[in-house]
Amino acid sequence: MKIGICADREDFFYDLHSLVKSFFPDDDVSVFSQKEYEERGGEYDLMIRVEIPPYEPSLRKEAKDALKRKLYESLRDYLGRDLPWGMLSGIRPVRIPLKVLRDGGSLKEAGRVLLRENFVSPEKTELAVRIASKEKAILERLPIGEKSYSLYVHIPFCPSICLYCTFSSSPISLWEKRADGYLDAVVREMHVRHDAMMKEGWNKGPTTVYIGGGTPTSLAAAQLDRLLSRIEEIWDLTGTLEYTVEAGRPDSFSADKLRVLKNHGVTRISVNPQTMNDSTLELIGRRHTAKDTVRAFHMAREAGFDNINMDIILGLPGEGEEEVRRTCEEIIALGPDSLTVHSLAVKRASRLKLNILEDRMKDGDMADRGDFRGYSLENSGEIMDIASDAAERMGMEPYYLYRQKNMRGNLENTGFASPGRECLYNILIMEELETIAAFGAAASTKRVYPDGRIERSISPKDVKTYLERMENL
Ligand code: SF4
Repeated sequence: MKIGICADREDFFYDLHSLVKSFFPDDDVSVFSQKEYEERGGEYDLMIRVEIPPYEPSLRKEAKDALKRKLYESLRDYLGRDLPWGMLSGIRPVRIPLKVLRDGGSLKEAGRVLLRENFVSPEKTELAVRIASKEKAILERLPIGEKSYSLYVHIPFCPSICLYCTFSSSPISLWEKRADGYLDAVVREMHVRHDAMMKEGWNKGPTTVYIGGGTPTSLAAAQLDRLLSRIEEIWDLTGTLEYTVEAGRPDSFSADKLRVLKNHGVTRISVNPQTMNDSTLELIGRRHTAKDTVRAFHMAREAGFDNINMDIILGLPGEGEEEVRRTCEEIIALGPDSLTVHSLAVKRASRLKLNILEDRMKDGDMADRGDFRGYSLENSGEIMDIASDAAERMGMEPYYLYRQKNMRGNLENTGFASPGRECLYNILIMEELETIAAFGAAASTKRVYPDGRIERSISPKDVKTYLERMENL
């Protein structure tokens, strides 16, 4: 269906579009002003007309919320259905109840803001308030302040590229000879920016360190050793509370790499199955099996890691309740310390279904694997419940949550953890309460000011461009 949103003036276009898209995730939604429409016209199956009342610039947020409320109520009444997250279209719904709690409000007040003012369902309100209260308790224990920061290092290589991937990553096979050059550039960037930070008074070491990607363990053991040694030389890690390396892909694990991580004081790693069904793993281009995941997990435990996260994705092609249940049972048998449950976003799913699969089939890479067009991309509240029940059976509680645009069923990604095994970095980055100094291609540095203002700077996504820039640093 083609849907037009015609506003009487050019304002709040992004918010209007996001809200209507939440009700019509699979439809073609465009937003334009009355003037624009008069000039170019156009045929629409549904035209939504929006009047934007005048407002004081200082009251922009209030005006936007009032407009969204009105639009939400009209669409809800017209369609006869609510959305689980109501009119919230942002990626961090927990920030709202967290702010109420941090300002001294009660759990009830935090819930009321979500339920009454944002039309969030009672179930999602309960979840968000529960997470906000957990985050508040954790944040109160963290030594965060004006000049505190966490460190992120991006390793943009993976053993192979998963079909749903929208991160910045390249196959390590293409970069093997130049991976050392990439590490040199990252180290150089860290040296230069560390010196600048010290001059500005950022004297303390990082609160947390997170090496992500990509798959950092795509690097050879000697390269990992070099990277982690340089990090230790440059930054003071004596007060660092958490050191994560997103090992991720089981096909990148080896005992010597795990030894390197352990020797350098890494406290938390992830072994990400995404699914424990081999046919899906093959379909999504992950070149490992469920058995490899089990092997990698045991290897990590044997290496002494007592904080292991596992990631799963719901809504993968061809996976329904039965497949997710099987995945969850196998994960319960392993007993990780935290479980992150992702819901495949429609945007990714559409790309997955229509573009990448077709491209790869054309390239011959996957030409012998059948017609993928018939696969469903299913996710629902019931499937999410299977995953959260599994987390509960492992003694975990939800501790962080975020949403992406165009998520199937308007759902969310949730991190569950056993008590004391919550990922501090995930909370800090999600709630934007501490500066993140990020290094490497596609890394996004966020400077958080005491008044809540946030300044972002993103490194070039393309590794070659990043290397050129670092040469001139
Ligand atoms: S492991 Fe993650 S970063 Fe690497 S290709 Fe797969 S989805 Fe992308």
